[in-house]
Amino acid sequence: MHGGDAPAWLEVDLGAVRRNARRLADLAGCPLLAMVKGDAYGLGAARVARAIGAAFGAQRSTSHVWGLGVASLDEAAALRDDGCTARIVCTTPLLPSALGDCAALSVRPSLHDARDIATWGATGAPWHLSIDTGMNRAGIAWDRCAALRDALPHLPPEGAYTHYHSAGRDPESVARQDRRFDTAIASLGAPVEQALLHTDNSAAIGTHVGHRTPRALARPGIGIYGAAMDATLHLEQTVHVYSRIIDLHTVAAGESVSYDATFVAERDTTVATVALGYADGYRRALSGNGLAIAGDRVCPVIGRVTMDMTMIDVTGVACARGDVVTMLGRPLASGDAPPKSIPRSRTVLDTDAVAAAGGLSPYELLAGLALRLPRVYRGEE
Ligand SMILES: *Cc1c(COP(=O)(O)O)cnc(C)c1O
Repeated sequence: MHGGDAPAWLEVDLGAVRRNARRLADLAGCPLLAMVKGDAYGLGAARVARAIGAAFGAQRSTSHVWGLGVASLDEAAALRDDGCTARIVCTTPLLPSALGDCAALSVRPSLHDARDIATWGATGAPWHLSIDTGMNRAGIAWDRCAALRDALPHLPPEGAYTHYHSAGRDPESVARQDRRFDTAIASLGAPVEQALLHTDNSAAIGTHVGHRTPRALARPGIGIYGAAMDATLHLEQTVHVYSRIIDLHTVAAGESVSYDATFVAERDTTVATVALGYADGYRRALSGNGLAIAGDRVCPVIGRVTMDMTMIDVTGVACARGDVVTMLGRPLASGDAPPKSIPRSRTVLDTDAVAAAGGLSPYELLAGLALRLPRVYRGEE
């Protein structure tokens, strides 16, 4: 299953996506409000939504998927156009002028302003209350919830949530945000206490396994896509980026490669140029830092990554023009067996490792893959 003769493509393993989502629901101990914003972190929202078992047409959602989280109404509209009938929550605040469109798409808005809540009340449709407990990004401040007490009894929220700022690195901050959240919920009384409460992003699910009573829902994103999570959780790599060698040439010692001449050959060097660059989401930060699997070897990216092409040192590697090189994920031909001469830890260029090589966040790396690469899906049921 290649991308035909495509010079570069993104392969998305929907089986891995499906297994990751199920595993996160098991770990969280509750159904998921699965975050598919940013076109499912670059993987393709509609395909991901189907793969994890969100409702499409008359097909109901599977029991571990309560609904989907998006960041804009355009994202929601694209899902609806594809036939998605699942519950959709927009977690980014909408301007009052967008609430009509939100209702028309049957999307649950995140609200926190008394006037917006009153406006939305006329629709009688479900909504979620967004409470800020320290992220200081969006939502009503946890200690100012009294301002909403009059607005809520008329149309209680279906759900109420907060978002952690440092769940992956600071357990104490999670405990503090939890205390603030619980205080806010208690201050709002019955209409909100009975709502579906949700707080956990992927990192919170990963770091608090078994330590807390589960909330009603959990809101993972990155973990579904197999990145930024502890290896002991056994989440799977979901994305694989392949590109073909479109030019293969020898560079003499002393010659430089690519813009700004940041790489200068110390010996005669065989350079493979692949058809992948930062316009495909192969970020410029990977210049001189990225790794690629060519033939059966791990080879360094040399010189600047350019918009459409990237150069790799393949000196001594058996490869030819047209060959496929793995730039992210697992080599194509060898299936699950590690190619012989690659150290085991390197046989998969996993998202976290590639991101770290470029000093990037795995979120940014994944989100960028939506830019230009054609996607090939496998692992569908
Ligand atoms: C993006 C986002 C999430 C998911 O976060 P991950 O770190 O990807 O698990 C959850 N909730 C909100 C409000 C978000 O914006």
